[in-house]
Amino acid sequence: MEIVVSGIRPTGDLHLGNYFGALRNFLKMQHENNCYFFIADYHSLTTHPTPEDLHGNVKRVLVNYLAAGLDPEAACVYIQSDVPQIAELYLLLNMNAYVGELERVASFKEKIRRQPDNVNAGLLTYPTLMAADIIIHRAHKVPVGKDQEQHLEMTRNFVNRFNRMYKVDYFPEPTAYNFGEELIKIPGLDGSTKMSKSDNENSCLYLGDSQEAIRKKLKRAVTDQGPTEPNQPKPQAIENIFNIMKAVSSVDTYNHFSDLYNNCQIRYGDMKAQLAEDVIIFTNPFREKIAELTADTEYLRKVARIGAEKARESASKTVKEVREIIGFKSF
Ligand code: AMP
Repeated sequence: MEIVVSGIRPTGDLHLGNYFGALRNFLKMQHENNCYFFIADYHSLTTHPTPEDLHGNVKRVLVNYLAAGLDPEAACVYIQSDVPQIAELYLLLNMNAYVGELERVASFKEKIRRQPDNVNAGLLTYPTLMAADIIIHRAHKVPVGKDQEQHLEMTRNFVNRFNRMYKVDYFPEPTAYNFGEELIKIPGLDGSTKMSKSDNENSCLYLGDSQEAIRKKLKRAVTDQGPTEPNQPKPQAIENIFNIMKAVSSVDTYNHFSDLYNNCQIRYGDMKAQLAEDVIIFTNPFREKIAELTADTEYLRKVARIGAEKARESASKTVKEVREIIGFKSF
């Protein structure tokens, strides 16, 4: 049986990128594998949330996960900060992570560009914390979107370095996982290549968005004047709308608009209206479940407690063994 780990930062609700990139894959695996799914609240501290926002966002993400079909009876669902062993492993891994390799990470360079006033050490060491998240359960597979490919490559480097350094074969090399052949990246509605809440709230379609919000966001989604010649390659923003349609609409709908595009007869207003209705149909079950679960604090508390106990059990075992391998011994 394979060990699978996946997580999300609690910086708001789940969007279609999170769902198609990571969660959907995880849902398909949760009954056949030993699965851990966590809410990465330590990670979210790099953006300095207020205590109220931090707590509220953890709850929202937990509700979103469960509404989307995560089964806490099958998978271990937990909150990262409930498992302090992860912080210990992070500390240990940092001793063998080099500043040079951390500085070269694309997402770190991007953060420096975007938030020059808050380039904290947590951002630099994001890949070591992510590695700790994964190897704390000695995972084999990590369902992630394409954006996490480089981080996972670093996790493999840390794992190999540890095994080599201590001459052990302790941590397995984890691989990124997607049921299709390629890792997925859902684009934004603003013409950007990645749907991302930290980049632009309005570029995201959330699982819990109201029907009006979905229609409004799609109406505003970036398009252009339309093609002037048949069978032209699609500009990025147009490709984005088609890619979202590919994820949520039927093949017939997708082909219909694709043909219209190729014949220069496309009207983006019509396409976006159709896409809005398809997103609404797709998200309807989530929306209802989210409302139901949000009101059930007792159930959420129980899920988090049971998840924390199970995750701590697995994490304590790893940290104990790692301590022994490194040479920490009691007298
Ligand atoms: P984050 O929201 O950055 O905490 O990411 C949580 C998970 O969602 C990670 O596995 C990401 O790879 C995945 N993810 C986030 N945004 C996208 C996107 N636009 N397309 C595909 N996967 C994504």
